[in-house]
Amino acid sequence: MLMSDTPRPFWQTVSLADMSREQWESLCDGCGKCCLHKLRDEDTDAIYFTNVACRLLDLNSCQCSSYATRFRKVPDCVSLTPEVLADIDWLPPSCAYILIRDGQDLPDWHPLRSGSPDSVHEAGISGRGRMISERDAGLLEDHLVEWPAEIPAGVARKRRKRPRRR
Ligand code: SF4
Ligand code: SF4
Repeated sequence: MLMSDTPRPFWQTVSLADMSREQWESLCDGCGKCCLHKLRDEDTDAIYFTNVACRLLDLNSCQCSSYATRFRKVPDCVSLTPEVLADIDWLPPSCAYILIRDGQDLPDWHPLRSGSPDSVHEAGISGRGRMISERDAGLLEDHLVEWPAEIPAGVARKRRKRPRRR
């Protein structure tokens, strides 16, 4: 039997619920797409992305400019946890948490694979260069876009989970 000495990376061996804080945080690829405003159709529950970013998002780095204190400034910012992930239907299909939740692997452009935080931008996966701040945007309805919901090459198309009714 052939055996490899190369240890498997943690995201293939540790469940989301069992990850350390450091492992959990490192799963985020820094795309910034979860910080875009979305609209939900009240009749169909469908989600529509806009290119309008939260006012705290740095549009170039795609990082939160006040990550440690964000909940004081943006009370409706959502903290991702394994429990929250189970029901969520508005994260982009490229999001690493969704990929791992749905049994997929991380793609080559993920910083944990490439070793560089720039690879998510170089691969055209992040929102860099195509977002506008909510400070400048005006009506969300004027900024509907499809690119955040696009499924990147190499990522399997999965049926989206319907959230449980609360
Ligand atoms: S969409 Fe997912 S991978 Fe991208 S920044 Fe948000 S949490 Fe991180
Ligand atoms: S507060 Fe920060 S993490 Fe939360 S949505 Fe805004 S930019 Fe994103």
